[in-house]
Amino acid sequence: MKSNEEKPLVIIGAGIAGVAAALELAENYPTRKITIIERSTLFSGSTGRNPARMGHGFHYMDLETSIQYLRASIEVQRRYSQFLIGFGEATGRGRYYIHKQSKHSAEEILELYRGIQKEYQRLCHEDPLNQVFGTPNDFIRILEEREYENHVKADLVELAIETAEHLFDFPKFAAYIRVMIEANPNIHLVENVEVTNIQHWTDTDNRFSIEMKSTLSGHALAPIVSDYIVNSSWENIEFLNSKIGIPYTDGSRTNRLKCLLEVQLPVHLQNVNSSFFCMGPFCMFSNMADGRGMLTFADVTNFAANSGLTIDDRMEDYLTGNISSEEKAEISLKILHGVAAYIPGIEHSRILELHFGIVQTDGDLKLQDIHSISSGLHTRRNIGVRDENQGLISNPARKLFYFIYNGIEVVKILDMQFERELKIQELVAAFIKIRSTEDIKQLRIFIDRWIVGIENILTIDNELLLAKLKDDLQSHPSLHHLVSSVMTSTSPAFTSDKQTTTAIKSPSTATSAAVTPEISFLYKYPEAEIESLFLAPSGTIPSDGKRPCTALPWENGNQTIFASMIPTRPNSAGSIFLPASNSKSCGKPVQPTSPQPARR
Ligand SMILES: Cc1cc2nc3c(=O)[nH]c(=O)nc-3n(C[C@H](O)[C@H](O)[C@H](O)COP(=O)(O)OP(=O)(O)OC[C@H]3O[C@@H](n4cnc5c(N)ncnc54)[C@H](O)[C@@H]3O)c2cc1C
Repeated sequence: MKSNEEKPLVIIGAGIAGVAAALELAENYPTRKITIIERSTLFSGSTGRNPARMGHGFHYMDLETSIQYLRASIEVQRRYSQFLIGFGEATGRGRYYIHKQSKHSAEEILELYRGIQKEYQRLCHEDPLNQVFGTPNDFIRILEEREYENHVKADLVELAIETAEHLFDFPKFAAYIRVMIEANPNIHLVENVEVTNIQHWTDTDNRFSIEMKSTLSGHALAPIVSDYIVNSSWENIEFLNSKIGIPYTDGSRTNRLKCLLEVQLPVHLQNVNSSFFCMGPFCMFSNMADGRGMLTFADVTNFAANSGLTIDDRMEDYLTGNISSEEKAEISLKILHGVAAYIPGIEHSRILELHFGIVQTDGDLKLQDIHSISSGLHTRRNIGVRDENQGLISNPARKLFYFIYNGIEVVKILDMQFERELKIQELVAAFIKIRSTEDIKQLRIFIDRWIVGIENILTIDNELLLAKLKDDLQSHPSLHHLVSSVMTSTSPAFTSDKQTTTAIKSPSTATSAAVTPEISFLYKYPEAEIESLFLAPSGTIPSDGKRPCTALPWENGNQTIFASMIPTRPNSAGSIFLPASNSKSCGKPVQPTSPQPARR
């Protein structure tokens, strides 16, 4: 059996979510190898196709989402303060123009903004290091018309508010992250390789086999194996999860295709504050402070929405740039003229690029929902990281700047999965009478998913867990027969079992060939490999001539089955863990061992 530590933990997707997970994991598990598989290049997905507004939640009419966004932005700013654009400069501050036809009244909006300001004040009071966006008093400021009338169509504006919100220099940040990844000996970034399939327990040693192809040559590559996957492939998360049988309910989340126009601004607009026209389907202008602007115009830029398992081919075409230059030009002009109704003169910008990316929200949402301000399109309350299956975590970044929380959540779930692994080993070990490899695979596949649904798993007594597992298997049409394979303290296993008793002879004849793959498989991740099994009188402390042996919990008459084991870690004594109620230790204590490395 290959040592668990040698296998990489695999992250699918090198967007902000995947990278944040990789960095947080590398810090918390300094000896673990991490492989990131990316079908294109670092940050080439939605992460690299947005203006990187480090929002404070001002464009959500949902205080919970706003506060979450504010807190997330504070975390990012505390860790990466060098990347904020125009901090300390008046033109760096984001402005919100409440439209006369706003879907919410100016009073309601102001009340929400005051709520966000109050939360900032509270956070600064709680920890002065949170005061990263200036003083709470300067957090928002109502503008006078003369402060904006020169570059904004003032007669559309009911109320104008300047905020402490800023943009983030994403290209500079991306270059910095690439250096960090390349400098980390434990993180291996594999670009231009797409994950095409994931298989679950196809062999007896590895939970997942990950199939891939080169996106440059189109050729299939040799699969890699891993026991832990962090699926960070954004719009493809559910599709890849479905490959190992994780069901997807249509309509449980929506992928919305959105586009963003990048322009070279005319000189007179190069110092204008980033502006959001709200609340409703209006427009946004982000000033990148280097002469470039990024624009959205809601009626045009929200392009398509899909809540099925996969995005459709047309959406995929836009994402991969499979769109004619005429169509691109037509969409770009529509956006430019749409925004010019709010910011006159912007139509004289030079069009640089039209980017398409995916925004994801909960529920089944249609494009027309963009007009309903109360629709779920406008909320992002949860971070979205999910414990899907033992060894599999879904990791979407619902907002770019939630990314630090993404990393923290992934580590938290993985910590729990590592602990849960021990429970699984103990449960699987109770099924010692199974001798069909296919049955063992099915059992492991079942437990890997079943265990996720059990709350407080780590505190539940093993006997109770086993009883529940037996019940649940009993009601599973194709797996109920496995229940008869559970070892109980009153049923001596193997006593009438010809196949096993032939394999288990005596120390002198026992070889590694005598260890059935099934038994090795039942005992995964101990600190030892079983080299041979043999029978010896119960109550003795036998040796196979090489090392002390451990008693397994099965007897054959007055003889006990012993295992000779090779430690798989340098300092390991070579112990194996067994169901506590069944174990009769002889020659070696029977102790659970931890499969994960010590955390810092
Ligand atoms: C127009 C637009 C504007 C936005 N504005 C903002 C904003 O101002 N502020 C903000 O906070 N958020 C904003 N967002 C949202 C933000 O961009 C996303 O929430 C975030 O980037 C998602 O990050 P991710 O890492 O989960 O996904 P991605 O960045 O898409 O990363 C997923 C990666 O997985 C790779 N991948 C997919 N399938 C496979 C596979 N089978 N094998 C290998 N690799 C695979 C992809 O190539 C991609 O690189 C905006 C989004 C859009 C589209």
